[in-house]
Amino acid sequence: MRSQVSEYLDEIVAATATGPARGEPATYIPELAHVDPTLLGVALTTTDGVTYAAGDADTMLSIQSISKPFVYALAMRDRGIAAVEEKVGVEPSGEAFNEMTLEEVSKRPYNPMINAGALATHALVGEPGITDEERDELVLAGLSAFAGRRLEVDEKVHGSEMDTAHRNFSIAHMLYGYDILTIDAHAAVRGYTRQCAIRASPRDLSVMAATLANGGTNPVTGEQVVPVDVVRQTLSVMLACGMYDAAGDWITDVGIPAKSGVGGGLIGALPGQLGVASFSPPLDEHGSSARGVEIFERLSHDFGLHLMSVPPLTRSVIRDRGSVDLIDGRSATSYVLQGPLRFSSVEAVVRVVTDNPPEHRSVVVDTTSATSVDATAARMLGDLVARLRAEGYEAWLVGLPGIIDPDDVAADVSVVPSVGEIDLRS
Ligand code: GLN
Repeated sequence: MRSQVSEYLDEIVAATATGPARGEPATYIPELAHVDPTLLGVALTTTDGVTYAAGDADTMLSIQSISKPFVYALAMRDRGIAAVEEKVGVEPSGEAFNEMTLEEVSKRPYNPMINAGALATHALVGEPGITDEERDELVLAGLSAFAGRRLEVDEKVHGSEMDTAHRNFSIAHMLYGYDILTIDAHAAVRGYTRQCAIRASPRDLSVMAATLANGGTNPVTGEQVVPVDVVRQTLSVMLACGMYDAAGDWITDVGIPAKSGVGGGLIGALPGQLGVASFSPPLDEHGSSARGVEIFERLSHDFGLHLMSVPPLTRSVIRDRGSVDLIDGRSATSYVLQGPLRFSSVEAVVRVVTDNPPEHRSVVVDTTSATSVDATAARMLGDLVARLRAEGYEAWLVGLPGIIDPDDVAADVSVVPSVGEIDLRS
């Protein structure tokens, strides 16, 4: 039976394909002008690694600027977030992707999603002093890890862009002149246009986006490609700057961190949920796929994907408040917590326990049904148990290894893996 999600995607593709597409494929890279403008595909990958696809989802496209957030993430993985921020800012520029402007005082490019920032970012992949070929390979291997399979460079597209890269050369020389670029200008343009000439299908791109949505771990291969804090930085910059001078419209209408490329691809990564990619070559006035933008608007609206539409976390955090028998047959008041536990959900638990003191002298705070417990939630629950003890209760925190990190909990409160293992002497 074909999944209903695939059918929803079929419907979105069919609805988007009506009438002539606005805009034209990019022509300033001669090789891209030959792409069939009627191609149209979409793929969606969940953070548990399932992909749904419709239309031309397996057609290979030139990823172009979609490479930028991934290479930015690789540079931060290799040099650290602060070192990359010294050379490249995080402010939306409000200008076109190939603008030649820099921040007034620092002379940094505004952000890594425009070409100036992407050229500087490319140079920061790997350790200082590696060869250009080693850097090329780190970039290709890195993007391949995001995709979960080995990707390739389209040499024809690369050659074609190098022949006409006058604007990128002038940007690179300007950056070199201001000490922002850490490799010579020619090497930066060659390497950067090579990363842009990598080919991938919408299906690959949706897995790459899902890896960002999944905190840097590829949901299909299980490989941790980049660390969680690097992903947060990358997604934030995508949200603020990924759609260039259409960033504000994009955030309000679609509300998904995204990146477009002049090859007609468009990706979105919705943190914790999914990655999406679309492909349709004709570009709008901002250099983003016109039909891709339409597909994302429909997806966001039809599937309720806007980042700012978040259901309240606190309503059902306590799944059960009752009593449970300890191993000696004594009863304890138990709070069984569920869902993702973070500040807002645990604040509600703390409030309930504080306002309605437990009826038994023994108390169990049970997180074994929670889907996640972040560091703040773990600390707050540990403190809750410590405070109950200070009030004269016997209290325990129950939680599964891998879900709750004992290092996040106050030192004198240990995390017990199940109610049955509570040691009544401790
Ligand atoms: N390689 C292209 C360029 O530098 C990438 C631009 C884009 O996709 N927006 O012009």
